[in-house]
Amino acid sequence: MEHCREVLQKITFDAGDVLVTNLYRPILEILDDTSGGGHDTLIAACSAAMYVRAGAGGDHPNCAANLNKALAGQGRSCPVTPAPWNLFMLAPVRDGQAIDYVRPTCPPGGFVEVRALIDCLMVFSACPDDVYPTNGGDGSPCDVALEVIRRSLTD
Ligand SMILES: [Zn+2]
Repeated sequence: MEHCREVLQKITFDAGDVLVTNLYRPILEILDDTSGGGHDTLIAACSAAMYVRAGAGGDHPNCAANLNKALAGQGRSCPVTPAPWNLFMLAPVRDGQAIDYVRPTCPPGGFVEVRALIDCLMVFSACPDDVYPTNGGDGSPCDVALEVIRRSLTD
């Protein structure tokens, strides 16, 4: 995310933006976003350490563990959890320095469509955070769908 923020010169991304890898290779193009946007790029993936700090215990499900579990299923590992693109999570900057954690505003049926520009492995975690209000604040799950459409890059 830090490389994308640098290249795009902003902290949230919009349709038409191209995200880059840590080696500045274009990797994803945002084709459409009907969610209202503002997807957070600043906040680390939730982790056992975060939940310990928040008093929720180290065995709380978390996105860092979900990432490692998904990678292990692919025979891969990632010793350092990369900065995530927190789709549908809003943590706007207030007064140029403070971060507000707010409830999501994505309308039912809202979506983000991206196009992979190179072969990539994408890992999604349905964030189990029930400490901050960024997942709705009431701890109730909601349906999320992920669809992968295989197309040629010339389509
Ligand atoms: Zn999470």
